[in-house]
Amino acid sequence: MKTTVADVLIVGSGPIGATFARLLSDQVPEAKIIMVDLGPRLSNKSGQHFKNMPNDSAREEAQIKSQGPHQEAYPLITVAERANAAQKGHLSLEMLARPGTHLVTDNLEDLATNQMPAASLSSNLGGMGAHWTCACPRPGNAERIAFIPEEEYDRAFAKAEELLCVSQSTFVDSPEGLAIMKILGGVFNEKLAADRQVQRMPLACKTDKNGGQYWVGSDVILGELAEPHQQSNFEIRSETLCRKLIHEKSTVSGAILEHLPTGEQEEIKAKIVIVAADAIRTPQLLWASGIRPRALGHYLNEHPFIFTFVELKEDLVDKSLAKSYNKNKRTEPTIGVFWVPFDAPNHPFHGQIMHMDVSPLKIETHGNPKHIVGLGWGCLKEVRYEDQIVFSEDKNDYLGMPKMNFKFTLTSKDKESIAQAMEIQSQAAAAFGKVIKEGEQTLMPPGTSLHYEGTTRMGEKNDGTSVCDPFSQVWEFDNLFVGGNGVIPMATTSNPTLTSVAMAVRACEKIVNKLKN
Ligand code: FAD
Repeated sequence: MKTTVADVLIVGSGPIGATFARLLSDQVPEAKIIMVDLGPRLSNKSGQHFKNMPNDSAREEAQIKSQGPHQEAYPLITVAERANAAQKGHLSLEMLARPGTHLVTDNLEDLATNQMPAASLSSNLGGMGAHWTCACPRPGNAERIAFIPEEEYDRAFAKAEELLCVSQSTFVDSPEGLAIMKILGGVFNEKLAADRQVQRMPLACKTDKNGGQYWVGSDVILGELAEPHQQSNFEIRSETLCRKLIHEKSTVSGAILEHLPTGEQEEIKAKIVIVAADAIRTPQLLWASGIRPRALGHYLNEHPFIFTFVELKEDLVDKSLAKSYNKNKRTEPTIGVFWVPFDAPNHPFHGQIMHMDVSPLKIETHGNPKHIVGLGWGCLKEVRYEDQIVFSEDKNDYLGMPKMNFKFTLTSKDKESIAQAMEIQSQAAAAFGKVIKEGEQTLMPPGTSLHYEGTTRMGEKNDGTSVCDPFSQVWEFDNLFVGGNGVIPMATTSNPTLTSVAMAVRACEKIVNKLKN
């Protein structure tokens, strides 16, 4: 078997792998870094967001290429149809998975025992970061990782926002957008802290002076490293699975890689190994490698998510604003994404409001998309050891890695929290003039959030309830680091990617020291 020597091996090329690559390459340019991803390249620029691709067919091709074993388009269904099916329990593969992703468990027999049936993955260069909605709200008070000093936490978040180009001016003010913020502000602002008022959603999106939007994927984080012919010590390999980490005592000496199209295997020897292979496949790889701390794959968490739709009635919109909006408006069909921030104890929820869906979920618009507003409310779910990914000792998935199933149960406290979120969402709907009737709010099936946390959680001490330290270094290993939403130790309702990028920023501080000394 061929052997290659590097300073750093990064497994996974999503936003988190890209953060590690960029910061380590900037700060230790002499270090040789290899980043691998099991999925295919979608475009010349490594990790580009599918929405930046030149036309509909390129966009659809990129989505399908990212769907692992499911290499065909899912049928086009509306959110209303999806919600309806979820309520009736009619869950088919197509109803659960979304374009650009594939289900973890994709046969009906397995789905029947899977308590997180919509758990999904993206398998492509750039990972889910080539498909995400780019919402990057800062977590609220009780969502912060309490054991990280405030000043360090804020510094890491500021750097994460810079890397992700987070901005609140992706969409210009529209009469409808202003009406939505006014309506929601009237319901919530009194209960929320001054810096957590109803506002536009911070989005990872670059905007040029003509209003052109460029959605942030790994390519933006990587900067020059994403260019096809860049000259540096950085190498990125697609369709390359990391099958196993090689370790002895407290050191990982490297890994076995497999080029999937040829089956050729190679050993990489590296001083530092970073696994940022999403919150589901990072623990899978550690498990497959015989690295099995007690907490690995456990404490699986996501925020339950509740959807409903309201119509924005004409009389709630100040039409006098239309003239200036029409002058400034951009080509993007979405009018805006708005945010009712988490702020415990008065609003321990995350409200994400879209005037027109920017995620791949299709909305039934009845030919008049401007008037449909999607109200999504997320609530906290208790963190429990019992909620877990179950790795099989003897069965494999489509890539020959340990097969996975999920244990995930809503406790009575979770059900209370869901009921409260529904009540709050009804208040928001009422402000739009809609009385919510029974069955008009849908609790989406577990896994729908796409925000899976806790499976490689960080902790303050090595007491069996965590996998890594506050700098993402795996306990009892000198040179093994993990990254991604799996490191988030507590329940959150806010979209997690910003936090995970911030935690990778912190991890890099420790890795840079190791590389330099
Ligand atoms: P990923 O981006 O998933 O990348 C992991 C990569 O690892 C994948 O490319 C995979 O192929 C690779 N990999 C896995 N195992 C191996 C292996 N053994 N060997 C080699 N490679 C491997 N989050 C938000 O915060 N805000 C949002 O608005 C938002 N919207 C979303 C909308 C959609 C439709 C989707 C799909 C996701 C959304 N998310 C959102 C989630 C967000 O995309 C993820 O939080 C983020 O991409 C996680 O980054 P990551 O690098 O940890 O993992």
